[in-house]
Amino acid sequence: MADSAPDLTSNLPLRPFIDGKPVDGTSGRTSPLVFPGNEQEIGRLSECSAADVDAAVRAARRELEPGSAWSKMGPNDRQRILYRIAEALRSRADEVARLETLNTGKPLAEAKFVDVGEAINVFEYFAGWATKVTGETLPDRPGAFLYTRREPVGVVGAITPWNFPLDLAVWKVAPAIAAGCCIVLKPASLTPFSILKVAEIALECGLPPGVFSVVPGSGSVAGAALITHPGVDKVAFTGSTEIGKWVAKECAEHVKRCTLELGGKSPNVVLADADLDAAARGATVGIFYNKGEVCAAGSRLLVEDSVHDAFMEKLLARTAKMVPQDPFHPKSRLGPVVSKGQMESVLGYVEKGKAEGAKLVAGGTRAKVREDGKGYYVNPTVFDEVDNDRHSIAREEIFGPVLSVIRVKDEADAVAVGNRTMYGLAAAVWTRDIKKGLRVAHGLKGGTVWINSYNMYDPALPFGGYKASGWGRELGSVAMDAYTEVKSVWVDLA
Ligand code: NAD
Ligand code: MN
Repeated sequence: MADSAPDLTSNLPLRPFIDGKPVDGTSGRTSPLVFPGNEQEIGRLSECSAADVDAAVRAARRELEPGSAWSKMGPNDRQRILYRIAEALRSRADEVARLETLNTGKPLAEAKFVDVGEAINVFEYFAGWATKVTGETLPDRPGAFLYTRREPVGVVGAITPWNFPLDLAVWKVAPAIAAGCCIVLKPASLTPFSILKVAEIALECGLPPGVFSVVPGSGSVAGAALITHPGVDKVAFTGSTEIGKWVAKECAEHVKRCTLELGGKSPNVVLADADLDAAARGATVGIFYNKGEVCAAGSRLLVEDSVHDAFMEKLLARTAKMVPQDPFHPKSRLGPVVSKGQMESVLGYVEKGKAEGAKLVAGGTRAKVREDGKGYYVNPTVFDEVDNDRHSIAREEIFGPVLSVIRVKDEADAVAVGNRTMYGLAAAVWTRDIKKGLRVAHGLKGGTVWINSYNMYDPALPFGGYKASGWGRELGSVAMDAYTEVKSVWVDLA
C-alpha cells in the first residue's frame, strides 16, 4: 500500500529566497512544517524578520532603477522569461507537485494536473500580455498631441494563503512580471515550498536577482513588515476577510494600491428542472474538492423544494463514495485538511451546526485513514434543513468539507436567499432552462457564476469578489490594470 510518500524530508526549500539566493532568515526563529497526511514534522522553516523583508524590498527597488538588469529588459524579454518558466514547470511538474502535496495534503495527482497545470497556463497567458499592454493615442486636439503610457506600478507586496499556495501566488507573480514590476511575496507559513521552488526556477529562467523574492514567515512579522514597508507601491492580498480589512486600512495610510481576494460563502443553486445527477456531481465537486479549502467553495447548496428529497438521495450516494485517503496514494481524491488547527475548527463547526439544530446527514467526524490514526482527515459532511439566516454554518466560512443544504421555494427565492450573505465571491446554478440559468446568474451577486458547472477557472476569465469577498479582480486582461499605472502625456505642438 502506498501509505505515504517514499521520502518526505529530502530536497525541501526551507529558507527565504531573497535577491536571487536562498538565505537564512534573521528572525532567529524556525517553525515546524508538518505533513498533514501523517502528522510527521518534515522540516523547519527559517522565518523572515522585518530586516529580511526590507532587504527583499530594497533589491526590488534597485531593479526598478535606470541601469538595472531588469530595467534593461523589454516586453519581449519578459515574455520569453515567462514562457521559459512555464516550460520549466512543465518539465519539473512532479517535483513541484510533491512539494505542494507535502505542505497542503492535497492529492498528488491533483497537485500535478490541476495546481501545477494551472500555474503553467497562467504563466503562458501572462507571457502574452507582456507584449500586448499598450497606451493610447488620443483624438487630435489643436496645438497638442495627447497619449497615454502603461507603466509598471512598481514594487508589489504579495501575501497568499495556504489552500492553493502555488496558483494564488502565480496569479500575482505572472502579471507583475509581465507588467515589468518587481514582486516580494510572503506565502502562508504552513505552505511555503512550491513558490520558493518557483522563485529558484524563475532565476534559472533568466529573471534577474531581486525582481522576485519570497519572504516566508509569520503574518504578524513578515506579512505586516511587507504591507507597511514604504518601498512597496501595491499590495496584492489573498486571505481571510478579517486580515484583509486590516490590510486595506494599512494601505489607506500610505494610499498604496491594493487588491483583496477574501472569503466566501458561495451559493450553489439546484433548480427543479436540473439534471439532478449532474447537479449532485457538481455539488460534491463544489464543496469537497480540495477538502473544501476553496475560497469559492459551494458551501451553501440551495435546493428547490419540489426536488429536495430526490436530489438528497443522489447527493448522499455520491458523498458516501468520497473516502479520505493518503494524498500520495495514486487513487486519492480527498486528502487531509491542512493542519490540526484547521481540523479542530472544522469539527467545531460541526458541533455548532448540531447544537443550532441543523440535521447532520453525512460525515461530521474525523476519519481514520491510517492504522495509527494519524493525519488530519475529516469525513465529507452534509447538513440538511439548514437555515440560511440563523445557522452559523450557513453564515460563516468554514473552509472545510462541510456542506449546508438549504431549501428554497423557487427561482426568485433562490436568488434572494443566495444573496443574503456578506460575501459575494462565486455562485452556481443548475437548470435545463437557459433563460432561468441566465436570470439567476445575473441576479446573484458574485464575481464568478457557473451555469451547470462548478470550480472551473481559466486564466483569461477574471476572478474576484463582490461585497466582503474583496476588491478588484485577478486573471484576465483586467489583471494588467492592477499592475500598471496610466500616465497621460500632453505634448505642446503650437
Ligand atoms: P489568513 O487571512 O489567515 O492569512 C492569509 C495570509 O495573510 C497568510 O500568508 C498570513 O500569514 C498573512 N497574514 C496574517 N496576518 C497578517 C498581517 N497582520 N499582516 C500581513 N499578513 C498577514 O488566511 P488563511 O487562513 O491563510 O486562508 C484562508 C482564507 O483565505 C479564507 O478566508 C479564504 O476564503 C481566503 N481565500 C480567498 C481566496 C480568494 O481568491 N478570494 C482564495 C483562497 C483563500
Ligand atoms: Mn488563517
